[in-house]
Amino acid sequence: MRPPLDARTAPSQYTVPTPARASSSWSGNSGSSSSSRSPARRRTATGYSNPVRGDRQRRSVANATSAGEKMCVVPAALRYAPPAHVAANLLSASPLSAELRAIRYVSTATVFLGFDQRTLARPLTGAGFIVPPGEGRILAGTWITSKWDGRAPDGSVLVRAFLGGARSELDVTQENDESLVTRSLSELQRLAGRLGTPRFTSVHRHIASNPQPSLGHRARMVRVDGELRALPGLHLAGAAYDGVSIPDCLRQARVAAERIAAA
Ligand SMILES: Cc1cc2nc3c(=O)[nH]c(=O)nc-3n(C[C@H](O)[C@H](O)[C@H](O)COP(=O)(O)OP(=O)(O)OC[C@H]3O[C@@H](n4cnc5c(N)ncnc54)[C@H](O)[C@@H]3O)c2cc1C
Repeated sequence: MRPPLDARTAPSQYTVPTPARASSSWSGNSGSSSSSRSPARRRTATGYSNPVRGDRQRRSVANATSAGEKMCVVPAALRYAPPAHVAANLLSASPLSAELRAIRYVSTATVFLGFDQRTLARPLTGAGFIVPPGEGRILAGTWITSKWDGRAPDGSVLVRAFLGGARSELDVTQENDESLVTRSLSELQRLAGRLGTPRFTSVHRHIASNPQPSLGHRARMVRVDGELRALPGLHLAGAAYDGVSIPDCLRQARVAAERIAAA
């Protein structure tokens, strides 16, 4: 249940970092907010049509897009790293599109909860825990303030629950914030002991943001590479392709940058 307002610390004392940075000094993880800050609502829908290059053209783009016109930018190379289903839309004229669209995505949510340290049953040592399948209604719990400094006011702790995903019965896009907070709090306390009444809560949904490479993914990537050879200058990178971890994504970005530099 959502804590009474007077039990929560004033938002000005908490921070949640980019891209969903809040005006506060609690500092959780990045993610797409459930609020009007969600990427889909934040982004301006801009279409493109006239080919342009160089500084003069860049100014044209700025002028045209601010005037709401459609422009087309033709770069020498493009490293494109949105979710695969978004790239599929852009590449709808290519056989790549169907391959990219076939990569399944799921939605997840992160729920941040801040507590007075004095209300914890035990100190939050370690980094947190991952819940084995079938043993809980959240995927994981993270002790944010045990991992990183400066994420909560002195005397407070910040924890994060990770919910949803491929094996969960929970559809995070259908649950309201209050329900996600309630589930997170009860599961974190069931699994890790009493935490107390939250003084701060923040819910972030990662909608269709988590790719789930399935059997046959490697063969699909071989086909994707083949199709990309027909589109020189276009490079795809990100969790949908060759590993989902942050180091995997960085490696892919580095490879793409090196190829662009070498071209
Ligand atoms: C809660 C959570 C915790 C995680 N923890 C870890 C961890 O501890 N360690 C680890 O290695 N990995 C972790 N991961 C996995 C890892 O963070 C991701 O797999 C990785 O960041 C994905 O990077 P990406 O660039 O492919 O996608 P994203 O980082 O999702 O980037 C996609 C970009 O595309 C943009 N975009 C979306 N739609 C459009 C559109 N229509 N047009 C243009 N742009 C668009 C988005 O705004 C975003 O900037 C975690 C993931 C989650 C969700």
